This record gives sequence, structure tokens and C-alpha cells, in this order.
Amino acid sequence: MTVDPFTDPLPRLALGFTGNRLDRDDRIRRDPEALWALQMNPQARWLVLDGLNPVVRGEGDDFDLHWARRSEAPPEDAVFLGVDDGGVPRFAVAGSAADLGGQALIAMDARAAAMRLGDARAGIVAQARSLLDWHARHRFCAACGGQTRMEKAGYARTCQACAAEHFPRTDPVVIMLAIDGDRCLLGRQPRFPKGFLSALAGFVEPGESLEEAVARELYEEAGIRTGRVRYVASQPWPFPSSLMIGAFAEATSTEIVIDETELEEVRWATRDEVRAALAGDGPFKAPPPLAIAHTLLKAWTDL
Ligand SMILES: [Zn+2]
Repeated sequence: MTVDPFTDPLPRLALGFTGNRLDRDDRIRRDPEALWALQMNPQARWLVLDGLNPVVRGEGDDFDLHWARRSEAPPEDAVFLGVDDGGVPRFAVAGSAADLGGQALIAMDARAAAMRLGDARAGIVAQARSLLDWHARHRFCAACGGQTRMEKAGYARTCQACAAEHFPRTDPVVIMLAIDGDRCLLGRQPRFPKGFLSALAGFVEPGESLEEAVARELYEEAGIRTGRVRYVASQPWPFPSSLMIGAFAEATSTEIVIDETELEEVRWATRDEVRAALAGDGPFKAPPPLAIAHTLLKAWTDL
């Protein structure tokens, strides 16, 4: 039976940085008194990010995010993450692992922490990291240069000079497999390790649909023309604030014309090669499960 990646039902997908179940309760953002009450709740906990790296603790099965009490957490500029299933209010704040003291706490690279957590807690890391990074880089108004102040529990900044409101950004990125029968298109950016191949990707530009961005990127980076586009899945990528939008694109041409400023290598890979690479035994190295490129490759080979 012939597989049609554009109409066949998709297999179950596993996606990194997703599954965050905190209730973000946006009413709290408009209600300073309710926010204050949540912060004063003795159960409330703070995730501290040190240089944007979450503070973690424990080894093996005990490995976890460290949730600080109010008395331990830096007092200024916490963002509200949400309320968990047990009714515990959760916040995130910039601070230092060393200042928390008393326990074996370290600040761990967010990718490494997310890979070790391997579940919905990684989604909380994504939310916290993107928000705190945005606040750190938007202390001044883009309209008038005045100082801005955190508002709405961390979901806005307001200019103290001209009252302009600024909101956290999410930058859409299309990431796609061009598919030609039993082959898909993979590439390697110069910054990738040798032997590593992944799906092609690029930022969506102003005035462009997702389908148009997919077609443009594949043509610009690899000279490949495409027809049908199928949305597969999305995931946050908090470095600093991307939303990765994964798709399949039907190749209508096959001759590769590589954009050497973007990519060092582009090639077609067969389904068998991709399966072997995902199993760690292929002619190239595949992206890790945390990356949506892995999910796209797995979805395509599992069809
Ligand atoms: Zn301003």
C-alpha cells in the first residue's frame, strides 16, 4: 500500500517543551490584589532562573526543578506561571543558584534540563525562560526609549514615559520535510556538528502565510519547489522565543541548489536511512527527541 504523507492519519507524536499543565489564569493578570494574594499564599513556589538556566536539584529519579519558597526567592519582578493541579501558585524569577544556598542546587542549561526532565515540566521551563528573557531585553520602550515596568503579572511592560504597552513576543518558525516519494530533504547548518542532518527551517516573514514561508524557505535554501503542505505539529523553542511549526511539503522538483550562506550540506535521505539514523545507527546523526525535527522524521517514517 502506498503511503501518502499528506492524507494518511498521523501517528502519535511526542513533542519536547510541551504538556505544561499549569492554569495560566489570565484573570490574575488584570487583578493586582488577586496576584498579591497568590504571592502571599504560603504554598506558593518560585522557579529561579540563573542566567536563564533553571535551578535544578537531585540525581537520577530524584532530578527535578527546584521550587523556592517566597523567603528564598528574589523579591523583584517575578512572572506568574500559573496554578498547578494541587492549587499551588507557581512563579518564575531571575536570580542566582548560589544565593539559594543550603542545598545542592545548580543552574542547568535549559536544553539539558528539559532533556533530563523529559515531560511536562520542560514546558514550564519553556514558559519561564522565554518570559524572563523577554523582560531582560525590553527594559526600554521601543517607541520613545523611556524606561518600562513589568505589568500584568509579567505578560506586559508599560513605558513610564509614554504609556505604550509592550507584550512578550513569540516568533513563528517553519520547520519542514520536503518529501519526494520515499525520500525527504535534510540539511546541515555550519554550526551543527559534523555528520548531523536536520529538517530545514526558517523564520516566517511579515506578510506571509505558513504555507508561503515553507515554500520560500525550501526554494531559497535548497532550490526545491513544492506543492501541497501539511501541518504536522508545533512546539515552543525558548531560545529565546520561537514557536516551531512543523510541516511536510510535497516536492515538485528534486534538483538541489544549495544556499551556502545558510547550509553546508543538503541531501535527500531515504526512509530506511532516516529510520537507521533515528535508531542511532545511520549514515548521519539525527536531531534529538527534544527537537521537533526528530518528531517530524519519526512521524514520516512511522506513517
Ligand atoms: Zn515610551
